[in-house]
Amino acid sequence: MTCIICDGSTLSRDCPVAPFYALRTGVTTATMETCESCGFTFYLPRITDEQAASLYDGYRDERYCRERAALEPGYTPDLNAALSLPRVYDFDAASILDYGGGDGRHIPPGADRYVYDLSGEAPVPGVRRWGGEHVALVMCCHVMEHVADPRALMAHLLTLGDAVYIEVPHEGAGGLLHEHINIFTPAALGILTGAPVTVTPFTFTATASPIPS
Ligand SMILES: [Zn+2]
Repeated sequence: MTCIICDGSTLSRDCPVAPFYALRTGVTTATMETCESCGFTFYLPRITDEQAASLYDGYRDERYCRERAALEPGYTPDLNAALSLPRVYDFDAASILDYGGGDGRHIPPGADRYVYDLSGEAPVPGVRRWGGEHVALVMCCHVMEHVADPRALMAHLLTLGDAVYIEVPHEGAGGLLHEHINIFTPAALGILTGAPVTVTPFTFTATASPIPS
């Protein structure tokens, strides 16, 4: 297999599929591919649009959390809340699109704010649903690790605004196919974006709490 970021050759090994991922996508066998050149890791088979729609249906709503927690006891309401915590961004841009930004809650104020998200969630006050407007800045945070074709998404984002901000988790490949189907290294992200990569550690905390019934 060749790397979907840099076209280098990959090392392949069989890996298990997380039960919730299997339930929603129907995928039961997978391999993990690690690029010998840029270190990028990705899982096969690649997710289809139909499977993604099923996997992210009602993402993090009450039913989603209950179904996932039943299969993944660590997926607690507290963990889910921690993943949705406000983040502090200080962008100097007149207009901002958050691509894949849920309800748009993470877009800093002071700009014309737009959100695009497959979930179709209603935007928070002050944020408009994106209708194709060209913007000064496109932010795309914690999306790239979920998509089947990061290069295609990157190329698309570059057509939407004057600048693009990409944020992905700095995580190791766990050898388990779950919703993060792309594990980036700084080198891989640099090749994808063609820009210098800054690694800024961010830690969230979560405590155990009862699984919703
Ligand atoms: Zn590579």
